[in-house]
Amino acid sequence: MLVLSSPSGAGKSTIAAELLKREAGLTRSVSATTRKPRPGEVDVRHYFFVTPDAFGEMVDAELLLEHAHIFGNQYGTPRAPVDAALAGGRDVLFDIDWQGMRQIAQTSRADLVSIFILPPSITELERRLRGRAQDSDEEIRRRMSKARDEMAHFGEYDYVILNHKLDESVAQVQLILTAERLRRPRQVGLGAFITDLE
Ligand code: ADP
Ligand code: 5GP
Repeated sequence: MLVLSSPSGAGKSTIAAELLKREAGLTRSVSATTRKPRPGEVDVRHYFFVTPDAFGEMVDAELLLEHAHIFGNQYGTPRAPVDAALAGGRDVLFDIDWQGMRQIAQTSRADLVSIFILPPSITELERRLRGRAQDSDEEIRRRMSKARDEMAHFGEYDYVILNHKLDESVAQVQLILTAERLRRPRQVGLGAFITDLE
């Protein structure tokens, strides 16, 4: 389970999209949210856009792996698709915040790799949020004022990447993914392979 978090606008969705193009063994977890779709966002592809009531029912039925209240809306990770991907031997990419990362760490620390993405500067963060041109002025102000709170949690993550140049950031995430896949406990079946070699 590979988690990418960052203050809003630092570029984690862009990095995630590029990573998914390059890494065939990776599946993106699609979250449920009560937030309204942005222009161009498609239900089921970007998020499951649900009503607050439907979200509450998912929580009550324990259908979510984790969930959190962010910028006045609810966000959560449906559990079943993640379990299915992992059972099929695939890695799963999560674009979630520190609250979600913490909940996954509580239940599955050994299976979790977490990366925190930082913007090169606060000015650049605001420029990216405005450049995305998909949130209202009020929403951008709210996200900027929350950026410091989000960044205060960088110390809970395994890795930190400064997203200066997109290509370099994607390459760095790929390096982490490769190294983490090579960790001995993640290479299941090694014992049998070595017995065969002998
Ligand atoms: P997040 O998912 O972290 O909220 P996005 O991925 O939506 O952020 O990125 C916010 C904006 O910044 C987008 O318009 C995106 O194209 C741009 N962006 C992302 N990474 C970079 C980068 N390395 N350099 C310049 N612009 C970037
Ligand atoms: P946005 O509204 O910009 O799509 O997302 C806002 C924030 O919610 C981002 O930090 C994003 O990573 C986080 N987020 C999206 N989906 C989930 C989720 O399922 N769980 C949690 N905990 N955070 C999420």
